[in-house]
Amino acid sequence: MSRLATIEGQSFDVAIIGGGIVGCGVARDAARRGLRVVLFEKQDFGSGTTSASTRIVHGGLRYLETADFRLVRMDLRERETLLHIAPHLVKPLEFAIPFADVGAWQRLKLRVGLAMYDALAFGSSLPRHRAASAEAAYYDARVDLPERLALENVLDAISAGARAFNYVEVTGALKDGAAISGVRVRDRVTGVEATVRSRLTVNAGGPWFERVAGALGGALPGRIRMTKGVHLVCPSMTDRALVLFSQVDRRLMFAIPRAGHTWLGTTDTDYSGDPGEAAATREDVSYIVRSMRGAFPSLSADDVLYTTAGVRALVMQRGSTSSVSRMHKVVDGEVSGVPGLVSIMGGKITGYRAIAEEATDTVCRRIGVDRRSTTAEEPLPGARHSRITNHEPRIADEVGVPPHLYDVYGSRATDVTNLAGARPELARPLSPKYPDIGAQVVLAVREELCVTVADFVRRRTLLGATADQGWDAAPAVAAIMGAELGWTPEQRDREVETYERDIARTLAFRSGAGTGAAGVGHHDR
Ligand SMILES: Cc1cc2nc3c(=O)[nH]c(=O)nc-3n(C[C@H](O)[C@H](O)[C@H](O)COP(=O)(O)OP(=O)(O)OC[C@H]3O[C@@H](n4cnc5c(N)ncnc54)[C@H](O)[C@@H]3O)c2cc1C
Repeated sequence: MSRLATIEGQSFDVAIIGGGIVGCGVARDAARRGLRVVLFEKQDFGSGTTSASTRIVHGGLRYLETADFRLVRMDLRERETLLHIAPHLVKPLEFAIPFADVGAWQRLKLRVGLAMYDALAFGSSLPRHRAASAEAAYYDARVDLPERLALENVLDAISAGARAFNYVEVTGALKDGAAISGVRVRDRVTGVEATVRSRLTVNAGGPWFERVAGALGGALPGRIRMTKGVHLVCPSMTDRALVLFSQVDRRLMFAIPRAGHTWLGTTDTDYSGDPGEAAATREDVSYIVRSMRGAFPSLSADDVLYTTAGVRALVMQRGSTSSVSRMHKVVDGEVSGVPGLVSIMGGKITGYRAIAEEATDTVCRRIGVDRRSTTAEEPLPGARHSRITNHEPRIADEVGVPPHLYDVYGSRATDVTNLAGARPELARPLSPKYPDIGAQVVLAVREELCVTVADFVRRRTLLGATADQGWDAAPAVAAIMGAELGWTPEQRDREVETYERDIARTLAFRSGAGTGAAGVGHHDR
């Protein structure tokens, strides 16, 4: 029986379109409030903009310059919440701001900004900033795998009764007069189509927002502004996270240690076209390399191991890309003329839970449900059943598993070790290059809605963050997944080839092939 047959013709309270961090957050919140929820993601959960971010959980020092105090305060409060509900995924990160290339005026602005940042972070458990003559230092947090943060929201939603589908695209709406009363969907793996009825439909399409609105028959042109952001992943050049100012145009940029490498970024250029096609161009790479010359004088494009590229969906505002607010907007279609629809625009990963709460409040109001959100207090699945505290996860003592498993699964890591204990062949590493083992693949397929090799390597584990992006493990992953999912040898080979093409896209800048990717931008200088 096709997986969509289990929902064909059924009625839900809410159908959510888009399984990025925001849509997954709405699914969790709505399901925990007892609503009947269905979530559709046309690729894999967290594979859109969520996977292309700088992976910082922050209020955003930069947004103080544009006087976005409400956004900074909300996100600093959410930073604290995420440190509590997902301590295995969200961890404190100290940033240094070297003053070497910073002029006296900017230094003064930074000192004032850091004092305001501390003030807006009231209630935070992280240390306050320190400033000396050579540098300042302050705390934010990191989320190395926002893809898993999205996934854990989905897993929690499912355990609260939600249905969630990846590789299922929403292609149209059911209508009752002008009102949206459900959605038409297509399974991108099997081609099977289905319709479901829903009292409310939520557009959480991120940068696909306008395309989704168009498919629902209520195009909302001009509501969002898309900007592309690129990172360069290089061999380790710093063991501290650094705030740096571009040598090209003085924009604020980051150099961040992640999984043994240094991430440099990001760019912010206007973009049009399919967000799924965004790629780093030679120009993007050259801009970041030149921007970083102050801190890393010998850096060149030849040092780049690979790139990432993604598209922000900002609530429409004119002006330079960097000055556009990152504040989100939830629009109730009852008010804007599309009854049955709730639209979410903009926002950051950091504020996803609060954004989801606001959107779910709107849904509840419309369907007359009076239940409050519990997502700020209830830990995510990997943070349950353990006494892990915020800043000091007592990894081995706590759950008796190796740190690399704890960092990915939290307390659920015991599910991996139990599988490996029962089948010793699954305790073997997928490649001598990395610590990840076969049991992780089996768990991903059985419990974590993992369908492709890329899902596993890039979004269920940290393998995708290694120098070769987990390529050396791809054949073993495909073999174990194939056995679980009943793939033919040809399907297995195809899966590995698809992942190879995925990797090639991150290297397209080398051949200049990335240049055509619909970027209309110029670097904001
Ligand atoms: C370069 C860059 C750096 C960033 N850095 C940070 C940072 O450090 N910290 C931070 O907090 N934020 C950061 N952000 C912002 C953050 O990444 C985004 O705000 C967030 O990921 C948006 O999540 P989303 O769920 O709205 O969108 P997405 O993650 O893009 O999710 C939307 C989903 O909708 C799906 N979809 C589209 N159409 C359909 C359809 N028809 N049917 C079903 N599904 C569909 C897509 O496949 C996609 O998965 C950064 C963004 C960029 C681009």
